[in-house]
Amino acid sequence: MTVRAINVRDAHIKTASVEAKTLTVGGKQVTMGVFRQLKVENILGGFGTELRGTPWGTVNYFPKPCEPDHLHVVWQKGGELRRSCVYEPVSYRHEDKWARARLREDRGHLPQAYIREWFDNYPEDVALARERFEEAVDRYRELEALDQLFIAV
Ligand SMILES: [Zn+2]
Repeated sequence: MTVRAINVRDAHIKTASVEAKTLTVGGKQVTMGVFRQLKVENILGGFGTELRGTPWGTVNYFPKPCEPDHLHVVWQKGGELRRSCVYEPVSYRHEDKWARARLREDRGHLPQAYIREWFDNYPEDVALARERFEEAVDRYRELEALDQLFIAV
């Protein structure tokens, strides 16, 4: 049996650096309280297929009545900031999910229930409904891929 010494010249320590982006307004990091004060407005229009403004990123903070089952997107509407609750579009077959989504809508949130209604409104054109649904899924994936923005406690 041979014991092989590790030559220090072969040893390397790899340092990985990660970039954490912070959400700042006026040079100050946004706090939870300031985040809560941002007006809630759906960034998505056109049944979830269009962006109404410029998304800045997502914030992983869910004050009540929100639960961490959707995205919180901070976005810019003209010269103002908004926050939006963005739910993954689900097919109209997922009735239980829709029931929950409608519950949230009753609390003043705007989930993708529009898509369900769109299906209801245009049952004669299933192909177009499917196309719009896929567009809405694409928009959701784009928002999901945004950088996470950190806020201050
Ligand atoms: Zn929310």
